[in-house]
Amino acid sequence: MTNVSKEKVEVALIDGDGIGPEIAAAVTEILAVAGARIEWVPCLAGSRVFLKGDPTGLPEETIETIRRCKLALKAPLATPLGGGERSANVRLRETFDTFAAVRPAKTLRGLEASSRFPEIDLILVRENLEDLYLGVEYDLGRNVFSALKVNSEKNTRRICKATFAIARALGRKRVTGISKSNILKRTDGSFDRIFDEEAKLYPDLIADRMLVDAAACKFVTDPGRFDVVITSNLYGDILSDLTAGLAGGLGVCASVNLGCDVAIFEAVHGTAPDIAGRNVANPTALLRAAIMLLDHIGQNDVARRVEGALSLVLQERKSLTADLAAGGPSVSTTAFTQAVIDALPKVELVDGETRWHAPSLEGLSEMGWKPDDLRSFVQASLAPTAA
Ligand code: ATP
Repeated sequence: MTNVSKEKVEVALIDGDGIGPEIAAAVTEILAVAGARIEWVPCLAGSRVFLKGDPTGLPEETIETIRRCKLALKAPLATPLGGGERSANVRLRETFDTFAAVRPAKTLRGLEASSRFPEIDLILVRENLEDLYLGVEYDLGRNVFSALKVNSEKNTRRICKATFAIARALGRKRVTGISKSNILKRTDGSFDRIFDEEAKLYPDLIADRMLVDAAACKFVTDPGRFDVVITSNLYGDILSDLTAGLAGGLGVCASVNLGCDVAIFEAVHGTAPDIAGRNVANPTALLRAAIMLLDHIGQNDVARRVEGALSLVLQERKSLTADLAAGGPSVSTTAFTQAVIDALPKVELVDGETRWHAPSLEGLSEMGWKPDDLRSFVQASLAPTAA
C-alpha cells in the first residue's frame, strides 16, 4: 500500500460531524504548509447524509471515492441515538472490511505533564467487525432485550494473524491477548484458543494472555508491561479510550482502521457535540492520524516535520487548547493550528525514520466473514424453526 513517489496521493477526506469540520480544516491546513503531497477528495458521510433521508449515512459516491483512493482521513461521525439507523462508522468498517482498529497509545513529547505515564508506548488492536457490534439484538417480550456476542473462528484467526504481523512490522516484542474466557467459555474461549495457535507461528514474539478485568487494572498501574495488545470489539472500544486517557487524553490519540485494501485514519475521540462550532476543539488526535497516514504512504519526511512542530508547540505550552491547558490560559483551534504552522520551519529535520509501517496483510483478504453473511448466518441459525 505504501507509495513513496513524489506524485500527489489521492486521499478521501470525510470532515465529519460535531467538531469534525473544525479539526479537519486545521489538519489539512497544517499538512498543506508542511508540504504533504496529498490530493484531498472531500466526501460526505454521517449526520448530513442521515438528515437528507439516506438511512445508510454513507452515500454511494463516498464509497466509490474510498474504493478508488484506498485511503481516507475521517473526522468523527455522529451515530444517531435510539433510532433505526446503524452507525455510519460501523457501515464504513463493514463496507471496506477494515477488520482491525489499530490504536497506538504513546505520549507525545510535550504532553508528559498531561500523561500519568509519560513512558507509555503500546499499540492496541481491536477486532472491528463482530462481537456485539454485529448488531444482532432481540426483543424477547415482556421488556426483556438481548444482544448477541458473536465470535467466528475465521475473523478471530484473521485479526490474530494481522496483529502478529503488525507487531513484527513495528519491531515489537510482546503480544497480549485479552478476553473474558473464564465466563464466556465459548466466544472468548475460542478467541484464546486461536490466539494461542497463531502465537506458535511467531516464535520471535512473546505471547501471553490476560483477562479483561485484570488487564484494566494493569493498564492503570503498570502500562509499561504492555507492548501490542489484541482484543475483541467491545473490550477494545473501552480499553482504547482507557489507554488514550493514559497517553494524554482523548483529544490526542489516533487510530487506523485497517483492511487488506483500504486504510481509514481517524481520531479515537467522537464528535464532542458539547464543544462543536466553538473553535475550541483540539485537532491533535486527527493530526496524529494524518501523521500515521503520511508514514503509511511513505511521506515520512513530512510526517516527522509535522510531528516535530506539534511537539514544539506542546512543549512550549503557550498555545494549548482548553483540554490540555489544565485550567490555565488556552487558545482557540485556529490559534493552535497557526502555532503548529509557525513551528514548522523551526523543526530540525531529523532522520525521516518511519514510526508506522503498513504491515503485510497478504493472504488475509478472503479469510474473514463478510459481516452481512455472518449476520444472516447467525439470524438464520437462531430463527425458530417451524414445528
Ligand atoms: P460521540 O457521541 O460522538 O462519541 P461524545 O461527546 O460522547 O461524542 P467524545 O467526542 O469522544 O464523546 O468526547 C468526550 C469528551 O471529550 C467531550 O465532552 C469533549 O468535550 C472532549 N473531547 C473529545 N475530543 C476532543 C477534542 N478533540 N478536543 C477537545 N475536547 C475533546
